[in-house]
Amino acid sequence: MSFTLFADARLALARDSLAGLSTGDALGAQYFLPGLAPVDLAADALPPPPWEWTDDTEMACSVLAQLADSGGIDRDRLALSFAERCTERRGYGAGAMLILGLIRIGTPWPLAAASAFDGQGSCGNGAAMRVGPLGAYFADSTARAAAQARASAEVTHAHPEGIAGAVAVAVAAALAARARLDGHRPAPERLLAGIAAALDPGTEVHRGVHRAAGLLGRPLPRVVAALGNGSRVIAQDTVGFTLWVAATHLDDYPAAIETCVRAGGDVDTTAAIAGSVVAAHTGVGTPGGVPERWLAARESLPDWLP
Ligand SMILES: [Mg+2]
Repeated sequence: MSFTLFADARLALARDSLAGLSTGDALGAQYFLPGLAPVDLAADALPPPPWEWTDDTEMACSVLAQLADSGGIDRDRLALSFAERCTERRGYGAGAMLILGLIRIGTPWPLAAASAFDGQGSCGNGAAMRVGPLGAYFADSTARAAAQARASAEVTHAHPEGIAGAVAVAVAAALAARARLDGHRPAPERLLAGIAAALDPGTEVHRGVHRAAGLLGRPLPRVVAALGNGSRVIAQDTVGFTLWVAATHLDDYPAAIETCVRAGGDVDTTAAIAGSVVAAHTGVGTPGGVPERWLAARESLPDWLP
């Protein structure tokens, strides 16, 4: 079945996904501070606001700004906007700072991205952490979501696993938003199968998504032991886990974020990714959606975001 999705509707889905991404990022980042145990969230004793967002949100805002402006990814412009807007205090990794620094002084992005990690390119989870809203924007076509996700990833992540991570998350968000428009929740195994079908079967990210389907319903420590929790900050140990969370809790945003916090690891990024997919399905302020109170506690998004 095909249908027409008008620009305003696309953007509304992407903004909901961004609300989930940025709130997950900002709340997840609170758990890097000493004295806040994950159990606090389960008891609904939330950290005091404001919750500052990090690099995940800053980069996702650049992606969404470009979609709002032109409806698609222009890699040259996206690379420049990442480079010009990044500020060290938002918690970028050393590899990302290096690549973005090269772009900022005029190095073409293909050279900057390819030079990372001794010429292998980055397989970090940074291309996956910023792409959920793009997937929601292309809710009418997983093929388009995948192609645009690849373009958005390539400017910083030349490694096939880094790119596959972004494609997986974008397709997940597209399917989640599509299911919202259709008015039904897909079964977790069906959602994961739809994501896996869009991925290069030779990648570790594909194997992780496939493995996630076999772990549905299993206890969290076992899932983390099998899939990771982002503690290596690479796509391979982040994406399968976050999509297991999203598939498991697709209609319950607070439960998805709480699961990421309990799992530990790269919590701002795992909560950003899972949150971006789930919020594409639930929206904001709806039953199971991003709680208004959480959104109000999150620091405001940058003023350059249209
Ligand atoms: Mg971050």
